[in-house]
Amino acid sequence: MKNIAIYPGSFDPITNGHVDIIERALKIFDGLLVAVLENPSKDRLFTAEERMSMIRDIFSSKPEVKVQSFHGLLVDFAKKNKARIVIRGLRAVSDFEYEFQMALMNHKLNPNLETFFMMPSIRYTFLSSNMVKEVHRLGGCVRDLVPSVVERKLDEKNRQERGSFS
Ligand code: ADP
Repeated sequence: MKNIAIYPGSFDPITNGHVDIIERALKIFDGLLVAVLENPSKDRLFTAEERMSMIRDIFSSKPEVKVQSFHGLLVDFAKKNKARIVIRGLRAVSDFEYEFQMALMNHKLNPNLETFFMMPSIRYTFLSSNMVKEVHRLGGCVRDLVPSVVERKLDEKNRQERGSFS
């Protein structure tokens, strides 16, 4: 049986930190299902479709990376996709407590599901989607922080938003 892992998150938008985790995971697992959380209650810059399309674009040459959206419990999504491993990225200390709680809760809901933590390269340790959005909105350069397709889409969004105010 192929060893497929799920990498869930908001990816609003995907950053080089996420890409780094995906590339590391591909060295260990046969395939990776990137699961984009559709969470209408959270304030998102990009729709789930837009977030998925950026990820598909970045990994278009890697058929072992699949992208799907999901809502509801991760354990249900994992079961439906016959995956037993969840990948999460760990940045500086700030991620630890939340990730620890989630991993324990998911394991309680489904004891067959294991969470696998991976650390990114040190240069992405303080990188988050929120930071990228904020810096870009204020006119800062995010070139080294996100893939070029994401930078382009951020520019488009900013132009659209500015347009809608004029
Ligand atoms: P969430 O909205 O659930 O925090 P994200 O899309 O921000 O989801 O992140 C998905 C996963 O990727 C989480 O495990 C998060 O810790 C991890 N992650 C996000 N940014 C980075 C980064 N720069 N380096 C390593 N892991 C990261």
